[in-house]
Amino acid sequence: MRNGHRYREWRRSVFRHYGRVCHLCGHAGATDVDHLKPHAHFHDDHTDYRTGRPAHGVQGCPVCKVKCNQVRGDQAMQDAHERELD
Ligand SMILES: [Zn+2]
Ligand SMILES: [Zn+2]
Repeated sequence: MRNGHRYREWRRSVFRHYGRVCHLCGHAGATDVDHLKPHAHFHDDHTDYRTGRPAHGVQGCPVCKVKCNQVRGDQAMQDAHERELD
């Protein structure tokens, strides 16, 4: 189950440890946090900053214009669907 408060705390600690450089394109200005594991559904994920990395979100990267986290998010959703069939 998602816990909004814990998720925000987790995002903040990811930024604190890794800064604002997007781990997907390598440019600064990340506004979002990407899950290293494609599944956000394990409740453990939001207790450890090492499960996330900074990434560009809906506003996109100011340098290369890619919405890094969304590009990866599509793949993660496909993975999740396959996983649910198990
Ligand atoms: Zn990026
Ligand atoms: Zn970029």
